[in-house]
Amino acid sequence: MFSLKARLAAFAISVAVAPQAASAATGSAADPADDPAYMWDLGDLYPTPDAWRAEYNRLQKEISNFESYKGTLGQSAAEMLAVLDRFSDARKTLNRLAVYAMLKADENVKIAANQERAQSARTLDTLLQAKTAWLSPEVLAIGAEKVHAFEHQSPELKKRFGFFLGDILRAGPHTLGVEAEGVLAEAGTVLGQPDNIFSQLASGELPRPEITLSDGTKVTLDQAAYEKYRQRPNRDDRKLVFDAFWAGFGKFQGTFGATLTTQVLAEVFQARARHFPDSLSAATFADNMPVSVYRTLVSQANANLPTLYRYLNLRKKELGITDSLAYYDLYAPIFDPPQPPKYSVDESKRIAREVTAIYGPEYTAFLDKGFAGRWMNLFPHPGKADGAYMNGAAYDVHPYLLFNNHDDYESLSTFVHEWGHAVHSLLANKAQPFETADYSTFIAETASIANELLLNDYMVAHSPGKAEKLYFLGRSLELIRTTFFRQTMFAEFQLAIHDVVEKGDALSGERMTEIYCGLLRKYYGDAEGVTKIDPHYCLEWAYILHFYYGFYVYQYATSIAGAAQLTDAIAREGAPARDRFIAMLKAGGSDYPYEIYKKAGIDMATAEPYAALMARMNAIMDRIDVLQREK
Ligand SMILES: [Zn+2]
Repeated sequence: MFSLKARLAAFAISVAVAPQAASAATGSAADPADDPAYMWDLGDLYPTPDAWRAEYNRLQKEISNFESYKGTLGQSAAEMLAVLDRFSDARKTLNRLAVYAMLKADENVKIAANQERAQSARTLDTLLQAKTAWLSPEVLAIGAEKVHAFEHQSPELKKRFGFFLGDILRAGPHTLGVEAEGVLAEAGTVLGQPDNIFSQLASGELPRPEITLSDGTKVTLDQAAYEKYRQRPNRDDRKLVFDAFWAGFGKFQGTFGATLTTQVLAEVFQARARHFPDSLSAATFADNMPVSVYRTLVSQANANLPTLYRYLNLRKKELGITDSLAYYDLYAPIFDPPQPPKYSVDESKRIAREVTAIYGPEYTAFLDKGFAGRWMNLFPHPGKADGAYMNGAAYDVHPYLLFNNHDDYESLSTFVHEWGHAVHSLLANKAQPFETADYSTFIAETASIANELLLNDYMVAHSPGKAEKLYFLGRSLELIRTTFFRQTMFAEFQLAIHDVVEKGDALSGERMTEIYCGLLRKYYGDAEGVTKIDPHYCLEWAYILHFYYGFYVYQYATSIAGAAQLTDAIAREGAPARDRFIAMLKAGGSDYPYEIYKKAGIDMATAEPYAALMARMNAIMDRIDVLQREK
C-alpha cells in the first residue's frame, strides 16, 4: 500500500550531492529553510505524538482480534461486507499512522524516537498482514459463483470490494495450500536477503578509491561523488572517475555476481512454486500486465536505436570530441547555460501552474489548494532524508511532499514531477473509495514524467536566448536517453539473466559482465562506430540497486513513452484528450493499469507510444540543428 515513490524519485532524479549547500550559501536570518511556510505541518495527521500513540494502541488491539472473523465471510453478503469494511478501515487508519511515522522519521533520521515510531508502524503492518492472512484462502474456498451472487445482492460490496475480490479469485491458480503458503511466507525472509547483502557491500564495505582531479581537487569516489564528477567538462577527469570507480567494482565482480544470481534464483523459485510459466509472468501478474508490453518495449527500443545514435553523434560533435565517443562522455552537459538558472519557490509554483494549465481547471484548482497548504518539506536540513518523494497514502488527509530544494533546474524539474504525483493522488482519492484509490507505479510515473516533458517544452519556449534554449533542449535529450533507452537496456539485461537461470545454465558475475558488455555495445553503437565501449565499464550492472526489485525498471521506460503520446494528444486534440488523461488519473486503482491506459486511448502493447517518443526526440534534435545553423 505504501508507495515506492521515495525510491522512484531518488532514481529518476539524481540525488543532490551536498545536501547542506543551499542553506550554507544562503545562511542568513532570511534563510527560507527556516521559514515555517516551507515546512510541512504533520498536525493535519495527528495533533501530537501522544495522539499518534493513542491511536496506534487502539488499532493494535483491534487488529489483534481479526482472526476471530475467520469462517464468517461466506455467511452472507452483509457479513462479507461488514468484515471487509472493518479490515479496510484498519488499513486506512494504519496508512495514516504510517505516513505520520515515516514523515516524522525523515525530518531527521538521527532522532532515535522518530526511527522507533517508524519501526512500530512497520510492525503493525506485519501484524495486520499476519492476522488477515486467512482472508484470501477463505475467499477462494467460497468460490467465484457465491462471491458474484453476494456482489449481486450488495451493490456496495461490488462497488468497493469487487476489484479486490476479483483479484483474489484471479490469483487462485497461483495460490497454494495452507501448509505450502506457510512455508513460502517463512522462506520469504531468506529470499529477500540479496538486497541487504548488496546494500552492505555497495553502500558500506566496498572500498572507495581516492583520486585527484585536474584542478587538484581530491575526491573519495563514493556513489554520490561518482555521479557528480562524471559530469566534469574536462575529459581526462571523466575518464579518471570512470576508470577508478569501475576498477573498484571489478575487484568484487564475483561477489556482486553471486549476490545478484541469488536474487534471480529466488525469483525463479517463487515463480515456479506458484505455477507461473516463468519469472517475468510472475512479476507482471500483480498488475495483470500482458508480458507482450514488456517485450514490445524491448523490441521498440532496439528498433529505434538509430535515433539514440543520432543523439550520441550530436553529443560527440557538440563536446568537440575528435576520436571516438567513450562511455564516460555521456554525463557531461551537452550545452552549458550562460548562467546556471535559479528558481525561487514562488517561481517554481508559478511555472508548475503554467506548465500544467493544459490539463484544465480541475487540475489547477488542486495544485492551488496544495500550494496554499503546508504540505511540503522543501529545503535541506541537518539529518533530513535525501532525495524527493510524494506520499499520498493518508486518504482522508492530503498528500505530503519531501524535497531537498537547491533552487536550480534539477529542483524545479523534481518539483513538477512530485506535484504530478500529488495531484494524481488528489484526483484519485476524490473520485474513488479508499479501496480502489491507490494506483500502480505503471500509471504513477506517467502522471509525473508527463509534467517533466511539458516543463522541458515550456522552458525552451520561454527562454530568452539561443544558449538557454540549447541548454533545455540538451536536458530534454538526456531525460529521454536515461529514462527510455537506459532503463530499457536494464530491462533487457534482466530478461537475459533470468533466461540463463530458467534454461538451467550457470550464472556468475563474469557471465553478467559479458551479457552487459553485449548490451552496452548494441545500445551505444560500438559496431556502428558511434561509441567505443571499454570492457572495464561493463561492471555497471553491479551497481544498479533496482535489479533487486525484480522486473521493475521497465515501468520508467513505458511511462515516458505513454506520457509522450498523451501530451502529444492533448496538444493536438485539446479537451477530449485532456479529459481522457484526467479520467485516467481519477481511475486510481479501480482497474488494471494496462486497461486504464487503453481507456485513455493508448495501447502499450503497440509501437505507437514509442513512435511518439521518438518523434519528440527527433524534433528536439531538428530544433538544435536549426538553432546551431543560425549561430
Ligand atoms: Zn515519480
